[in-house]
Amino acid sequence: MLVSAKEMLTKAKAGKYAVGQFNINNLEWTKAILLTAQECNSPVILGVSEGAGKYMCGFKTVAAMVKAMIETLGITVPVALHLDHGSYQGAMDAMDAGFSSVMFDGSHYAIDENIEKTKEIIRLAGEKGISVEAEVGAIGGEEDGVVGGGEVADPNECKMIADLGVTMLAAGIGNIHGVYPENWTGLNFDVLAEIQEKTGVMPLVLHGGTGIPEEMVKKAISLGVSKVNVNTECQLSFAAATRKYIEEGKDKQGKGFDPRKLLAPGFEAIKATVKEKMELFGSVGKA
Ligand SMILES: [Zn+2]
Repeated sequence: MLVSAKEMLTKAKAGKYAVGQFNINNLEWTKAILLTAQECNSPVILGVSEGAGKYMCGFKTVAAMVKAMIETLGITVPVALHLDHGSYQGAMDAMDAGFSSVMFDGSHYAIDENIEKTKEIIRLAGEKGISVEAEVGAIGGEEDGVVGGGEVADPNECKMIADLGVTMLAAGIGNIHGVYPENWTGLNFDVLAEIQEKTGVMPLVLHGGTGIPEEMVKKAISLGVSKVNVNTECQLSFAAATRKYIEEGKDKQGKGFDPRKLLAPGFEAIKATVKEKMELFGSVGKA
């Protein structure tokens, strides 16, 4: 059964650990993440960007697949199905399709418009018990064609959005989507601490979890981050394992071309990455 992200993040906040959001792209990705969460007895958030949703034939297909997989695989840990960086319309559609959590990324709107649209989504989500993530201060790098400049969020704006009743808040603190450049200056912990001070117990979300040094991730969690988004790292692990299989010529041995064999190393690689992250975030055994 799918649950909203509210309870798992409230617990994470109180227990000073974070729940990982792992983005899914297909059946193998979903199965790998769900099985790892179950093996680690960890709560988990499955992230779906609008682009990945389209790729998987729409939010309804995704919701049906995830719900059926939870049942078939006997998954008992809390699982939230979350729209990642949703537009206003995307958030509406995901809620209709059965998602249990949505992010409305209004960070590119002026603050007043971001507030108006966020309020409307919170109202509709509230009726259905769906959790809502909002974003203040664009997060750097590229996600589904949206390029953010790596702004640092204004703590006062964070408080304004938090007070609307969002479940969790993503705030830019120098984090970037994708692989970090050589000259990256690191996370801005002063701003993170100030945001948490102003927003009280609001669970904060760290996007762009790929390549942030472990010590920085741990420090961010200690300062109030309760959800960390991981996407690129699973893609890199999957690609590297698949490349190795093909470069070693294994697809040409016997029935090595069978997709169930061809995709197996990548599947195992995603599992290993997810497990490593759950250990780092401290969510193992917290289901
Ligand atoms: Zn993001």
